[in-house]
Amino acid sequence: MGYVDLHLHTTASDGVLSPSELVRYAKAKGLQSVAITDHDTIEGCEEGLSEGERIGVEVIPGIEISAEHSPGSMHILGFFLDIHHPFLNERLKYLQRARAERNPKMVEKLRRLGVDITFEEVVKASGGGQVGRPHFANVLLEKKHVRSFQEAFDRFLKKGAPAYVDKFRFTSKEALHFINEAKGVGVVAHPNTLGMNGYWELEKLVLRLVEEGLQGIEVYYPEHSAADVAKYKTLAERHGLLVTGGTDYHGMEKNGLDIGVGRGEMKLPYSIVENLKTVRSRSLSGR
Ligand SMILES: [Zn+2]
Ligand SMILES: [Zn+2]
Repeated sequence: MGYVDLHLHTTASDGVLSPSELVRYAKAKGLQSVAITDHDTIEGCEEGLSEGERIGVEVIPGIEISAEHSPGSMHILGFFLDIHHPFLNERLKYLQRARAERNPKMVEKLRRLGVDITFEEVVKASGGGQVGRPHFANVLLEKKHVRSFQEAFDRFLKKGAPAYVDKFRFTSKEALHFINEAKGVGVVAHPNTLGMNGYWELEKLVLRLVEEGLQGIEVYYPEHSAADVAKYKTLAERHGLLVTGGTDYHGMEKNGLDIGVGRGEMKLPYSIVENLKTVRSRSLSGR
């Protein structure tokens, strides 16, 4: 039995490799099973699944949803999604629409502040990809409204600045609901980013998430220290939650991080996938 990597990004979100390239790379690295977990989209799954079938790599259709949370950030992974499920697709379309409203709103705010900028200019600056605040900053810089990229953020674009508009996010409850409805398994990603103060605060949050439909914790992650891993593993064991892991590989050799192995220390056994399947079929038959 080979190794697995259950947290990977493709060009469907901010990854560099196309879904087929990613799956072929996984095969070349000897992985048996991989999950495609792009940010807020399942668009890369279909292509990844068929390439996986063609070359003999198990591809798990997944997603990584950014949920509303403070003080840190909360990402929720969904595994084994029915990617054709109407409710899931409707929710993701809703999310896209809500997000699409953000950029025109920021343009409007800037114009009200007396800044001469159009939405077309920002779209052009993005080069046809996903539009974000860095593209706004580039336009502001190019048109000499600011003297530096940083000034664009400080004066206009950073959270709390006058042209800032909050990104729309689902609540964890909403995200877990549509993941479960689409026959998926919901897992909280890299708990080290949740910004929780100590074990008890984290446990309290995890218990709330369990009530909302959470079934696992991403215990193995390149940014987790050995102490983190031990802590999250205990938490999972105490509450009968699944243990998953992945590298969050985005297709580039960032600080020596690679698919399957992270920074060289990861080796995730196939039993992680088997456990996911068991829990999934148990919850499906319990409905
Ligand atoms: Zn994440
Ligand atoms: Zn990720």
